[in-house]
Amino acid sequence: MGPTSWFGFSALLPGLGFQLYFLEPRTPNTPSLNHRGTGGTFGEGQDVKGEVITRSTREKNGRFTNPWPTWHYPSSASLLRFYLLDKDHSNLPPAGISRSTLLTGPVYIYNMTPQVSGTVGSGLRVTWLGHASVLVEMDGLVILTDPIFSQRASPFQFMGPKRFRGPPCTVDQLPKVDAVLISHTHYDHLDVGSVSSLNKRFGAELRWFVPLGLQGWMQSCGCKNVIELDWWEESCVPDKVMFVFTPAQHWCKRTPTDDNRVLWGSWSVLGPCNRFFFAGDTGYCSSFQEIGRRFGPFDLAAISIGAYLPRDVMKSLHVDPEEAVEIHKDVKAKHSLAIHWGTFALAHEFYLEPPVRLREAMEKNGLNVEHFFVLNHGESRVMGGEREGGGV
Ligand SMILES: [Zn+2]
Repeated sequence: MGPTSWFGFSALLPGLGFQLYFLEPRTPNTPSLNHRGTGGTFGEGQDVKGEVITRSTREKNGRFTNPWPTWHYPSSASLLRFYLLDKDHSNLPPAGISRSTLLTGPVYIYNMTPQVSGTVGSGLRVTWLGHASVLVEMDGLVILTDPIFSQRASPFQFMGPKRFRGPPCTVDQLPKVDAVLISHTHYDHLDVGSVSSLNKRFGAELRWFVPLGLQGWMQSCGCKNVIELDWWEESCVPDKVMFVFTPAQHWCKRTPTDDNRVLWGSWSVLGPCNRFFFAGDTGYCSSFQEIGRRFGPFDLAAISIGAYLPRDVMKSLHVDPEEAVEIHKDVKAKHSLAIHWGTFALAHEFYLEPPVRLREAMEKNGLNVEHFFVLNHGESRVMGGEREGGGV
């Protein structure tokens, strides 16, 4: 096991004192300047319809924690076994050899030029940029999730998990982006190089929607237009489209001491014509049913299907394809895009296994396999039209 593997595991896993971490802009331990949503919250423990919703919770030391019985830190014994003994089945072919017939490309997003962008009318266009980076055009906005354009998910570009599929475009090749959604602080979801490039190109015109506790870090990167939200808080800036930070079961860490100082979660984006759900990085928990009841049906959900083996270590952190299908059902997604696979080898499953198991799980559930689809890197799909009712 080389240093790359060590770093990869440490970036994913809590609990081991000998993990490798590197100093980088620190997440502040004190609450950052409040810049919250325009529409307030849905109340303590209940939403406006009187339904029970799960609020974010902190331990006595101020660190956030997962409130569900489905959350367990992996035991020290299983972590040690994972680090030292388990066989890694990811089996990436060496660089330079074609790694897949499924993973073509990279496909440059030629159809996303500024002239074409914004022409989807009342529909929705989604483009997968690899891992959890998704470009969504809907309701007159261009929205980007967890952008990573760097070669490595790491504070350094000479070590750490390296992508085996390049990004399909550069930040300069993107259309004008209106909003970025950040789900949590792990390096494969919050990449300082990508944040800086996006900020440099779009400046204060770009809105950053981030979890509670991250605003100070974003400002240290020079981002001016940052809205940090707690679970179930929402912002309607810019108007017409509502951004709600919703729960997920995960954790946060970037430095040796900042565990869970920042919240993690998913995003529900509610527009007049389309609804988009971004699951972020998550284990399975009951809140997806709450999200579905409150905001479903969604026209599109982006749900993780990769980085799930070994199960006893990963289950609390990352859903497997079968659980991803449960989330697809819980949030009432009409269509879902599979993300968090095919880009970085972060866990032990064979690198092409996730879409195979996804298809089997959809069939086992009696669902149309086309309704939870994979895209090639840089590939787009247009869908939707008018909403079919439901939710607020
Ligand atoms: Zn993560």
